[in-house]
Amino acid sequence: MEPILELKKINYAYHNMEGETKALSDISFSVDKGEFIAIVGPSGCGKSTLLSIISGLIEPECGLIRLNGKYIRESTTNIGYMLQHDHLFEWRSVYHNVILGLEIQHILNARTKQKAHELLETYGLGRFANAKPSELSGGMRQRAALVRTLVLEPDILLLDEPFSALDYQTRLTVGDDIGQILRKEHKTAILVTHDLSEAISLADRILVLSKRPATIQKVVPVIFDLPDDTPLQRRNAPEFKSYFNLIWKELNENA
Ligand code: ADP
Ligand code: MG
Repeated sequence: MEPILELKKINYAYHNMEGETKALSDISFSVDKGEFIAIVGPSGCGKSTLLSIISGLIEPECGLIRLNGKYIRESTTNIGYMLQHDHLFEWRSVYHNVILGLEIQHILNARTKQKAHELLETYGLGRFANAKPSELSGGMRQRAALVRTLVLEPDILLLDEPFSALDYQTRLTVGDDIGQILRKEHKTAILVTHDLSEAISLADRILVLSKRPATIQKVVPVIFDLPDDTPLQRRNAPEFKSYFNLIWKELNENA
């Protein structure tokens, strides 16, 4: 099977008046269809830069990126990008926020409207379709932002610390819920997080980045022997702690 995403020897540096900030160095990895990858690394190491490069927002200085076997410029692969801040418009209802991308892309029709309603149901927002974002809790707002991304049917989903603005309790439940739904639907996803527990409870594979400029320091396949492989079951499994200690050690060794 051909990977959905392939990165080879990616390098990137920011240039401004103060000089050069090297952000990524020699990053290579690939992602299979349906895989859930988590990326962890020290703050400021280059994680968001890496997602910006995958999304095509910025171009690498050297190296290559292929999506479904095609160079990123020629690719028609649909990428969904979700950030820490939900960017919901207060003057639009939840439903009208969710269909915004469909409107912009001129693909709002009976089928996509139906899809929007289905996704709102799946993510527990069916009753809030006509509410304004200000009436929602932080966790519900993030779900709405996710539905807005998913309704465009992305082939690959980039999530940049999407739960980190939420309080601990909410982050745990929303993170586990969302992660579980994405996994069940075999969505290909790359999740950047500074929360090791979140990474271990959701990912098939964790990439540990070094401090800036980010290199891939370690790749940890995450395998739990569970009849029901859910984030909560993972958190309670004996292997969880071993993964935590392993990645914690990796991160601190390079700090
Ligand atoms: P992370 O997401 O891992 O916290 P970033 O990818 O946002 O890190 O940033 C990596 C490094 O690049 C940081 O040192 C940051 O200050 C720097 N950086 C990010 N964006 C810019 C920019 N637009 N111009 C200059 N430097 C930047
Ligand atoms: Mg970041």
